[in-house]
Amino acid sequence: MNKVLVIGAGGVSSVAVHKMAMNATIFPDIHLASRTKSKCDAIAASVKERTGVNVATYAIDAEDVPALTALIKQIGPKLVVNLALPYQDLTIMDACLAAGAHYMDTANYEPKDVAKFEYHWQWAYQDRFKEAGLTALLGSGFDPGVTSVFAMWLKKHKLKTIRQLDILDCNGGDHGQAFATNFNPEINIREVTAPARHWENGQFVETPPMAKKVTFDFEQVGPKNMYMMYHEELESLAKFIPELERGRFWMTFGDEYIKHLTVLQNVGMTRIDPVIYNGVEIIPLQFLKAVLPEPSTLGATTKGKTNIGDIATGEALDGSGEKTFYIKNICDHEACYEETGNQAVSYTTGVPAMIGAALVMQDVWSGAGVFNIEQFDPDPFMDMLNQHGLPWTVEELAGPVEF
Ligand code: NDP
Repeated sequence: MNKVLVIGAGGVSSVAVHKMAMNATIFPDIHLASRTKSKCDAIAASVKERTGVNVATYAIDAEDVPALTALIKQIGPKLVVNLALPYQDLTIMDACLAAGAHYMDTANYEPKDVAKFEYHWQWAYQDRFKEAGLTALLGSGFDPGVTSVFAMWLKKHKLKTIRQLDILDCNGGDHGQAFATNFNPEINIREVTAPARHWENGQFVETPPMAKKVTFDFEQVGPKNMYMMYHEELESLAKFIPELERGRFWMTFGDEYIKHLTVLQNVGMTRIDPVIYNGVEIIPLQFLKAVLPEPSTLGATTKGKTNIGDIATGEALDGSGEKTFYIKNICDHEACYEETGNQAVSYTTGVPAMIGAALVMQDVWSGAGVFNIEQFDPDPFMDMLNQHGLPWTVEELAGPVEF
């Protein structure tokens, strides 16, 4: 039982599979399945060329539970790594239960017809995974994923309590296109156009999308405008850091991106409800995805760095009063492209996906039930980030954030 099955063949999957192949003692037998088999074959060919490792490939519709169950039974993996889209989370969890495999993903389930980023659908699988003696690890990407582990590492090693937490996600990369998204455009635009929500004094407070803007000087990137928005890890962090008074998520966007998105939104191109066009039902946002550049094609031209981290304030573990720490990773787009053929947004998600998978494969993280990444010991994950391309730093700041 040392096989792993990865589902989905986009940028994140490509990085994760390359990284798995580079760690053959943990992943000696890699299988890759997705809707379009040719995309799996392209990843397998690149992996073979770069590492000499063979990856077996398959075509699968991950929303077809009987077909997916049959495929999982045929392969017999210990773990299924879901790197398809959030829409497929529940069907892949169903198939894992039916076939007896552990489950892992990087994004919480979303229904196709409403942009709702909530964990309750997946948390509802708790009893079924528990009874089956299987592990479901939720959210092992960068955010969610690394940002949650960063918070739990601070809580283990620096702070007794976390009173305030700000997650700052900066992509300082330039792909040279007027408008493109760095990961799946449909998911990205749904996220950005949803109302902002942050955690404050025991409840979520909702504000209009992109209404709160702050300029922040990011190390190795420079000053950027970042916008407060909702991100799914706020829900699990509020649950697993019960003393949290305020939790916010910020992401940087350039003025050009905002300008294009505003127009697209105003003309109705970001709608996710069906529209009849020439007698055919289309979803405007899905049509928009079809005409935008594929994120995986942006790697060759993207230059610059990502800088993603947490600023946390709370009572110091050593009893020295209130302290503020900033913990982050800085990642270079061109270096990621050279190593795996993908840019840093895919890399910063694919590497933590490989690490979460490695910890489950090796039984370092184990247990029966559905677990958010915050529930496991952060230390082995943090060690592996340093070893596998996402080194992190932690520094003490003079005081809490003032924005
Ligand atoms: P892509 O759109 O590039 O890739 C998604 C892949 O899933 C495609 O290969 C697609 O197939 C496949 N797929 C879609 N539907 C199905 C289906 N029904 N059955 C089988 N395969 C299917 O996305 P990314 O690689 O950018 O992102 C992958 C995941 O990572 C997403 O869930 C995204 O939300 C998440 N993510 C998480 C982040 C984090 O930090 N936690 C950050 C970035 C992304 P096809 O090629 O045929 O369309």
